Amino acid sequence: FIEVREGLAKILVPKAERIYDAPVFYNPVMALNRDISVLAVEVLKPRTVLDALSATGIRGIRYALETPAKEVWLNDISKEAFNLILKNVRLNLGVEGEGISEKRIAFRGEKEVVANLDDANRLMAEKFRYFDFLDLDPFGSPVEFLDTALRSIRRRGVLAVTATDTGVLCGAYLHACRRKYLAEPIRGELCHEAGLRILIGTVVRYAAKYDLGVDVLLAYYRDHYFRAFLRLKSGARKADESLSNLGYLWQEPNGRFEYTKAFLPEKLPSYGPLWLGPLKTQKFVDEMLSLAGTHSLAHKKTLSFIKTLLEELDVPFHYDTHALARKNNLQVGKLADIIEALREGGYHATRTHFSPVALKTDAPFEEVLGVLKSL
Ligand code: SAM
Repeated sequence: FIEVREGLAKILVPKAERIYDAPVFYNPVMALNRDISVLAVEVLKPRTVLDALSATGIRGIRYALETPAKEVWLNDISKEAFNLILKNVRLNLGVEGEGISEKRIAFRGEKEVVANLDDANRLMAEKFRYFDFLDLDPFGSPVEFLDTALRSIRRRGVLAVTATDTGVLCGAYLHACRRKYLAEPIRGELCHEAGLRILIGTVVRYAAKYDLGVDVLLAYYRDHYFRAFLRLKSGARKADESLSNLGYLWQEPNGRFEYTKAFLPEKLPSYGPLWLGPLKTQKFVDEMLSLAGTHSLAHKKTLSFIKTLLEELDVPFHYDTHALARKNNLQVGKLADIIEALREGGYHATRTHFSPVALKTDAPFEEVLGVLKSL
């Protein structure tokens, strides 16, 4: 093992040439994902938290050390992971003599950490409506855990979900996307935003059958994964409201996107169903940013990334200026100039975290094309 530090935690991770060869998984790049998650938990102040797929325990240990959460569960199906979780929990929190038992450790008086060796689905099924904040951070797709997770979260709790099967959600494997997400993915320049929206749309559909609606607190794409923080809302009407934000999207040869919030697509070929509602709750991200200034973050890009997310215009698609220029035989101008020209025209326009050459705007397509031509 080697010891690494991340946030306020120090943890042992297996020594390995490549991260996927290690007997227990630890990816330092995901420190940004964990930073943002820690800030989310700080803002939300849940009492009970589950890190359902915990590996080394780093995520749950950071929740225990860096947030007000009172009871944090760390679970993994792998015996090797579980043994390492126990080691890491003791390394960070296990004051001699204070442990209640091997698996349940109390520290700083009022806090409790539970290490658990089980199939996440079995644990979540047993802990019915127990967790205020439930984190799913799997290898690949989270779909196999969604049903039990939604039942294990309290009625107004929060699901934090990662998906690393970007190839599937971005349309590289069409049939896998149909199988897992019952959705038609889009390829090309919009694929990351559309993939994120297919993921959210899937959770919304799963939640609706339990009479649960969903508010998107924050959702983003980064480093080949998708991440969403979703607040559940109890009631059939809330579920209906969330479902009404599902719809379909299509693109014309010149690059124009259109969408419809309809139960069935009006035009073919179209992509979806996907979530066409907001990707953030402004107040939530604002609070995360204020906390980020004073928190010991592990990744040097976390703060600037949250700023980008906060400033981004929240509309259902973006324009990739390079793709748009190519489709219309134009030279592409500087992104900053295009955004400025749209703003001078009286529209909102911002950069987007989905791509360094893309923009989000509420200007009609013709205006965007007009600006591209004029520069
Ligand atoms: N959350 C960790 C972090 O931030 O470093 C990484 C988790 S890793 C991507 C996924 C973990 O899920 C692996 O450790 C694997 O053993 C575990 N796992 C896979 N299937 C599981 C299941 N059905 N129940 C519980 N754990 C499972």
